[in-house]
Amino acid sequence: MAAHPFLVSSCLAGIPCRYDGNARPDAEIIAAVENGHAVPACAEQLGGLPTPRPAAEIRGGDGSDVLRGTAAVITDQGEDVTAEFIAGAEKVTELALAHGITEAVLQARSPSCGCGVVYDGSHSGELTRGDGVLAAMLTQRGITVRAVRGNRDTSTADENAGSPA
Ligand code: SF4
Repeated sequence: MAAHPFLVSSCLAGIPCRYDGNARPDAEIIAAVENGHAVPACAEQLGGLPTPRPAAEIRGGDGSDVLRGTAAVITDQGEDVTAEFIAGAEKVTELALAHGITEAVLQARSPSCGCGVVYDGSHSGELTRGDGVLAAMLTQRGITVRAVRGNRDTSTADENAGSPA
């Protein structure tokens, strides 16, 4: 058993926190949470966004660019939710650091949790290289992130394609 738990995306732990009101349950993640080896958190809910909520994608870059102020998170209804995404990422990062967490296993392709590949901001299902806002912030604070069922995600097609989290 690791000295410290690892962080996981809440939707992978079976919590219905996705934009569409569903979860993305992963049996290994659920077991890790039940055994006290993993801590679940949802940056978008902690940032104050409702569930369900409009799908959002990063426009103009990736999560690192959002944190540097050169990209924005925009919903498919045209609303700018950048502030909520950053606020939620900050809360999850503080939670992780308070628990001594050094690793995170996150949902693929999400504008918050995506690791290495995210949707490109066009709301057309197209993907681009980059991290979500939370993944970028965790990385900047020294926490290792990887997408569930893989390492840093560099492919451009898997079972989650076309379904932003
Ligand atoms: S992928 Fe989306 S719904 Fe799942 S934990 Fe991350 S922010 Fe929440």
